[in-house]
Amino acid sequence: MLTGLHLAVIGGDARQLEIIRRLTELDAKLSLIGFEQLDHAFSGAVKEKIDETDFSTIDAIILPVAGTSLEGQVETIFSNEKVYLTEDILLDTPSHCTIYSGITNAYLDGVTKKADRRLVQLFQRDDVAIYNSIPTVEGTIMMAIQHTDFTIHGSNIIVLGLGRVGMTVARIFDALGAHVKVGARKTEHIARITEMSLTPFHLKNLDEHVKDVDICINTIPHLIVTASVISKMPSHTLIIDIASKPGGTDFRYAEKRGIKALLAPSLPGIVAPKTAGQILANVLSQVLNEDLQSRKG
Ligand code: NAP
Repeated sequence: MLTGLHLAVIGGDARQLEIIRRLTELDAKLSLIGFEQLDHAFSGAVKEKIDETDFSTIDAIILPVAGTSLEGQVETIFSNEKVYLTEDILLDTPSHCTIYSGITNAYLDGVTKKADRRLVQLFQRDDVAIYNSIPTVEGTIMMAIQHTDFTIHGSNIIVLGLGRVGMTVARIFDALGAHVKVGARKTEHIARITEMSLTPFHLKNLDEHVKDVDICINTIPHLIVTASVISKMPSHTLIIDIASKPGGTDFRYAEKRGIKALLAPSLPGIVAPKTAGQILANVLSQVLNEDLQSRKG
């Protein structure tokens, strides 16, 4: 149980509703910021405006998966108000206050460091990233179907990166009957791709492998699908970039060449917000409980 904890849930999409539901069930007291347009009421949770919240009693702040923008703005689907997480807000919290986010960026790193507050990135945890790769791949399949006029079955698919998302993408598209090639840079990844009965190649040779690609799915959060790579793709190729913003594709050049390239953030929140929210709610209830026990102990 989380009795005695006071948590601020700031912004987010439908995934946060599962988190709010679970945390209130566990008896935490919640201040909901950026939720004034939400019809549903949760017992134990109060909707507040950020400038009216008393942060001096907040034990933890729960941000959406994306954290903040590079200007500190928190995305609020259930509010028209602009909500910013600032250093001053963090300085008002008790020193043990922990900030939970899915991922981070230079702003969030900087502001938490300056205020000397602990920042936990839930998506750095392998368990969260692997569970979350399931709705991510379902969203990728949805995009592939929506933006092509051919079947996934029998098509040539390139997956870039064999991390927690890349591995799931490669395996599921293979299971759908596609011819899947996977690009990686580590020898152990090349070995794993071979073991999975997929076709491996080294990323430094990417140019040579895109000549007959139908769908290129990038999971690498660095510029990898460069103008040079795109220039060698057939004109019908669809690029689905699921790496975190700004993705790993030269979108300007893709547009110039007339190749459809889509940056596809937050797929779990779009295709399966309930499941994606439950994944986060499970881990948050566990880590908040551990924090509470360690402070008591
Ligand atoms: P991960 O486990 O860290 O995997 C990242 C992959 O990228 C690894 O294969 C890594 O290879 C490779 N990589 C990183 N930097 C590279 C570079 N400079 N050159 C070549 N390869 C490089 O991450 P993940 O959990 O799979 O997530 C992948 C991305 O998808 C992240 O940006 C994440 O935020 C995003 N994501 C998006 C959605 C969505 O809905 N769109 C959902 C979930 C995750 P090495 O091991 O060789 O470094």
